[in-house]
Amino acid sequence: MNVHEYQGKEILRKYGVKVPNGKVAFTVDEAVDAAKELGSSVVVVKAQIHAGGRGKAGGVKVAKNLDEVRTYASEILGKTLVTHQTGPEGKEVKRLLIEEGCDIKKEYYIGLVLDRATSRVVLMASEEGGTEIEEVAEATPEKIFKEEIDPVVGLMPYQARRVAFNINIPKELVNQAVKFMMSLYTAYIEKDCSIAEINPLVVTGDGQVIALDAKLNFDSNALYRQKDIVEYRDLEEEDPKEIEASKYDLSYISLDGNIGCMVNGAGLAMATMDIVKHYGGDPANFLDVGGGATAEKVTEAFKIILSDPNVKGIFVNIFGGIMKCDVIATGVVEAAKQVGLEVPLVVRLEGTNVELGKQILNESGLNIIAAESMADGAEKIVSLVK
Ligand code: ADP
Ligand code: MG
Repeated sequence: MNVHEYQGKEILRKYGVKVPNGKVAFTVDEAVDAAKELGSSVVVVKAQIHAGGRGKAGGVKVAKNLDEVRTYASEILGKTLVTHQTGPEGKEVKRLLIEEGCDIKKEYYIGLVLDRATSRVVLMASEEGGTEIEEVAEATPEKIFKEEIDPVVGLMPYQARRVAFNINIPKELVNQAVKFMMSLYTAYIEKDCSIAEINPLVVTGDGQVIALDAKLNFDSNALYRQKDIVEYRDLEEEDPKEIEASKYDLSYISLDGNIGCMVNGAGLAMATMDIVKHYGGDPANFLDVGGGATAEKVTEAFKIILSDPNVKGIFVNIFGGIMKCDVIATGVVEAAKQVGLEVPLVVRLEGTNVELGKQILNESGLNIIAAESMADGAEKIVSLVK
């Protein structure tokens, strides 16, 4: 789960990670009031969307007086920001962070991320702050320093110190930087983060080490024990189809293609996407209806797929192990009748009660194309969509 920058900073502040003072604003008037309250001579108006790259896209503006705050706030609020992380359709700005302006001397990068290869949290840092870390990794990989963290002892002060020296934090500020990293690590662990990225971390003219940006991601599997984090969820930032799917406990991820896929089991779902790609098609989604889905769940899954206007055909690929084929067939028929199916539907069923399932589909009066195998089904749906 993602949160906004201002929420991330709120969390970090509680752990003693230094962040600038700031306030969230939902309207232009609130933005001006927030700036008045902050009372600093320079404030920064920052678009709050679940994506980075806002600065370059015009979503971060420095205002020197209240009139400028008003101008920038009205410019940015309601604007659709297109950054390299939003995709071409962009994201509409509905919230702003009004923050104290910082006298930046130098920008750095500090990040904590889970390295799945070593199963450890890694502290990453660079003196090339402000730019995307991916670009630094490409152009000047020698400028990225990493410390692998032993989960038993956690981040050790000597590691943080080594990082601070490697990225050339001024000597007199090394202790501050070490404290910053240690606090960031505590927040990361206690809040079950999957990413904590501070880009930029800055050193200011008056000798402070402070986070100017904060990107926190949380492990969804841990949200049951992070109730306060769940409170931060902003549904407007999420795909409505994914929200609907989560209500029914369906694993659904929306993609750019035009072939809707309904599959049971994550492995089979991935294999199905691969085989659709293999035959030259593009999946519109990843969907795992799970092992023990009911007809109702299948109906809802089907409706979600059909609510995507890009879907030009559907491929149902089910192995009836725990889930019986007749249940799937009933769900498919039910949903197709409720929603009105206008696109081709290819179904491949195998496993428990397969004959009964096929019979239900055949007698439904719907135009359903049966597939003999997974490959056959993929080939059929790809050619029908084309
Ligand atoms: P993004 O990564 O989405 O572009 P950032 O929060 O990193 O957004 O802001 C982009 C740039 O704007 C930063 O690299 C920094 O130079 C500047 N900036 C952001 N917040 C402040 C602030 N409070 N004071 C001064 N400059 C800021
Ligand atoms: Mg940034």
